[in-house]
Amino acid sequence: MTKILTVVGARPQFIKASVVSRELRKLGETVREVLVHTGQHFDPYMSDVFFRELELPNPDYHLGIGGGTHGQNTGRMLEAVESVLFRERPDVVLVYGDTDSTLAGALAAAKLHIPVVHVEAGLRSFNRRMPEEINRVLTDHVSDLLFAPTEQAVENLRREGISGERVRLVGDVMYDAALWFAESVGGQEDILASYGIRPNAYALVTVHRAENTDRPERLLTIVQGFLRFAELMPVVWPLHPRTRKVFETFLEEDVFPQDVRGVIDREFLAELDASGAVVRRNVWWLRPVGYGEMIVLERNARFIATDSGGVQKEAFFYRVPCATLREETEWTELVELGWNRLCPPSSVDDLYACLTEAYQSRGREAFPYGRGDASRKIVQELLRRYG
Ligand code: UDP
Repeated sequence: MTKILTVVGARPQFIKASVVSRELRKLGETVREVLVHTGQHFDPYMSDVFFRELELPNPDYHLGIGGGTHGQNTGRMLEAVESVLFRERPDVVLVYGDTDSTLAGALAAAKLHIPVVHVEAGLRSFNRRMPEEINRVLTDHVSDLLFAPTEQAVENLRREGISGERVRLVGDVMYDAALWFAESVGGQEDILASYGIRPNAYALVTVHRAENTDRPERLLTIVQGFLRFAELMPVVWPLHPRTRKVFETFLEEDVFPQDVRGVIDREFLAELDASGAVVRRNVWWLRPVGYGEMIVLERNARFIATDSGGVQKEAFFYRVPCATLREETEWTELVELGWNRLCPPSSVDDLYACLTEAYQSRGREAFPYGRGDASRKIVQELLRRYG
């Protein structure tokens, strides 16, 4: 029996791990997966709901580490994952994406000479100010087997001296997840009616990257930009807990300018916490939604604007034009294909102009993320190497 220890901790990792985990379970007794949840995302709307919806088994270990700085989280996770590894002695450790949980899992295993497998390897923004970029680069370099989602990712690794047997191009597990889940959310379109919005007539927005939330002028630009955009069409904005927290700080420090003060105030936060949805000036602010609801919101949107990696791709999976609220993206093929436009929030006027162009453009047809069989290929290769 091969023992695979999987480390997850954040929302996108639950989604990615769910499809690989499902493939592993199909193998029955041949493989045992030990699931470790670091606790990085602990809000029930960011964690529990995904385990339920995606049929991920309950974690074998919940480390309860979250809410600290990057250094605190990574350090505490490293120590805690190491003790789980001592106890479980797995044949291989599987990590996903680019969070502190990814890096801690990879480092702990590498130091104990346990093979590290990285799913979603080789992505680069070439912006070392992003915590995710540091996590990716370091994780890739200590990994024994790297599953790249795109040709660009393979090329990025090659330039850093990582190539040959270590790297496998398998496609994107998020695409597998989107295909699998899209079938099971068939009947949920009435969510739109409950918000009073029509299909193909609204914009969907998500914002959570530190570069946007931790710089007040940028977050304010984004808020003001979308309040203006909402004059064109309704905006639906599920608020990441980090963004919600920054709004609270802005209120405490009285940072909001006059025009926003009337929209986001104490009652706004109270209403959001109590009912999960607040509508102001044609913007639906929601608390984080489950994966099923997110898919419904994405595939019926007229337009998506986001700083999320996953949401950029999902926009493309459902062929919805997308604006990325950043200076750069790791998913460059989407920009090249014309489905995605970079709209950095530098000023309200520039952002608004970029958004209005982006929502009217469509891209070319292509399949840069594989055919929805990335998780199957990953499991086959895992068995071949470590089975
Ligand atoms: N997502 C969700 N509910 C939300 C916002 C996002 O289910 O309210 C999903 C989204 O569909 C995507 C994933 O979370 O699959 C993306 O995660 P996130 O934006 O946190 O991280 P990133 O992709 O940037 O690493």
